[in-house]
Amino acid sequence: MLNQIRVVLVGTTDQRNIGSAARAMKTMGIHELVLVQPEELPEGKAQALAAGATDVLAKAKIVDSLSEALADCGLVLATSARNRTLDWPQLTPREAGVKGITEAAGGAKVAIIFGREASGLTNEELQMADFHVHIPANPDYSSLNLAMAVQTVTYELRMAALAAQEQVQTIEEDYPLRDDLENFYAHLERALGATGFIVRKHPGMVMTKLRRLFNRARPEKNELNILRGVLASVERASGAQVTEYSDSDSDMNAKDDSSSS
Ligand code: SAH
Repeated sequence: MLNQIRVVLVGTTDQRNIGSAARAMKTMGIHELVLVQPEELPEGKAQALAAGATDVLAKAKIVDSLSEALADCGLVLATSARNRTLDWPQLTPREAGVKGITEAAGGAKVAIIFGREASGLTNEELQMADFHVHIPANPDYSSLNLAMAVQTVTYELRMAALAAQEQVQTIEEDYPLRDDLENFYAHLERALGATGFIVRKHPGMVMTKLRRLFNRARPEKNELNILRGVLASVERASGAQVTEYSDSDSDMNAKDDSSSS
């Protein structure tokens, strides 16, 4: 998803900022840099500040107009050191990260535009964006160094990309079926009955509280199996009938009945 992100620097005056911006981008896993009419071409000084990110500089495209830089983009975000100068939809950097990654995940190319060191972006340039992004800095001194603004926004994009990845992984985790959980609770109750922790005629709130505890913990399938093993060992130690169980034993009660004679 980060491959779909393009950083666009407009009219940059000082090539050192281009180098630092390239470094900021690469640390966040973003590699596509487009320079619109830079006043200085990125040469030695820019390379020095790019450090290990000279590859980003080397691949940077230089174009004559902002519209050329944005032509193939599906979402365009423009950053501004000034808050709400135009009446335009605005996102916080965090919202911009999520929005950018969501659209990138859908296949769109996403551009983030940064302005000139002294004067930022013109109104005309700002109006080429779908959303404006303002880093809510100290209102009395809100203008960040260009490369630091790039760092802040690309950091949020990276955080959003990592969160999106993690979400996919979480969904892939193997959670037990409701039935398996119910069988676990039945087993738990039996084992605690066998040890005398629960008095069958006066169970009180213990099972409800234990259910709440385990539901909150959201055990995965293999963790539930370990818990079933623990319960079986408790049953064994207390001399009770050991409940059989298997990976997904929604018919465990039936098995129990057959083995309880
Ligand atoms: N005096 C200029 C400041 C430009 S700073 C102005 O008032 O616009 C150079 C660029 O860094 C800005 O165009 C913007 O792209 C980015 N930038 C600096 N501070 C920012 C902030 N607080 N929020 C968003 N972008 C910022």
